[in-house]
Amino acid sequence: MEFHYSTYRLELKHTFTIARGSEDAADIVLVYFTKDGITGVGEAAPSDRYDEDCFSIVKRINRLTFDDIPDGGTLDEWLDAALPKAGGMRSLETAFDLALHDLYGKLNDISLSDYFGANSKKGCMTSFTIGIDEKDKIRAKVLEAEQYPLLKIKLGSDYDREIINTIRDVTDKPVRVDANEGWNLEQGKKMCDWLAQRNVEFVEQPLPADDLDDTARLREVSPLELIADENCIDSKNIPDIAYAFDGINIKLMKCGGLREAHRMIQMAKEHELKIMLGCMVETSVAITAAAHLSPLVDYADLDGNILTSNDPFDGVKVEDGMLILPDGPGLGVELHR
Ligand code: MG
Repeated sequence: MEFHYSTYRLELKHTFTIARGSEDAADIVLVYFTKDGITGVGEAAPSDRYDEDCFSIVKRINRLTFDDIPDGGTLDEWLDAALPKAGGMRSLETAFDLALHDLYGKLNDISLSDYFGANSKKGCMTSFTIGIDEKDKIRAKVLEAEQYPLLKIKLGSDYDREIINTIRDVTDKPVRVDANEGWNLEQGKKMCDWLAQRNVEFVEQPLPADDLDDTARLREVSPLELIADENCIDSKNIPDIAYAFDGINIKLMKCGGLREAHRMIQMAKEHELKIMLGCMVETSVAITAAAHLSPLVDYADLDGNILTSNDPFDGVKVEDGMLILPDGPGLGVELHR
């Protein structure tokens, strides 16, 4: 199997601010596996929250060989050979996993949603994310997001109520809130009560990941569902956090790709947790990959490509907020013509 990679800088339409910091661009790595003249594409979108960056990924890739991935093997055998090469860097595992799933789908003429038994070209509704910003800019962003029926609002700032009031001046559409670990228990209790009166659907990661017992205390009194993001990296976390949350946010770049994400979906259902699919700032390669699992879940926040101005790929589309999967085998993504 042949392998190559390239790096790419995704430019954001607006500076994107969350409780942890701001960014104007995101560096990603695209990887390609080729067999019998057919190429599968994958993507690593590393995050500093998990101590990963493009420089370390490229450094690692340059030390790797891929001759031991069995040409005639099954997809699981390919993944078992390739994923450990990432050395624990989950975004790089994801890149390998996506490229091999895409290649497998193309070689076997099956779309990944069919491969995972999703059996629908329609995913669920995705939210559109509004980062932390000044009031005027938030108002402008909400108006710009008019075609999205569902908003996700980043909180965990010093002026969370003003942000929500600003949004409610402009629109009454349902809102999901992501505090990105920005509150403590007392703030969380007050905010969840206050937000519950303002057409908010749920709250994502209200408290720091280390404050799991406090999160469980908040859950006992919160009128809103709590969804784990920073507390839920992969399927191993699910049994430990299920007592503190009502649901989990699965992201490919955290868990290491589609195979593990699918495992998380099954395990979350066993624990009666709601399931959301989330993303980083990513191209349509990784967003479309996650979208192939979206018919299997409750909520999606797959807008990382829409937040950028130079996505080089076409893949999943959003129509009236609904994710519409591409036709075609594998991921079904193509470079812009
Ligand atoms: Mg989040």
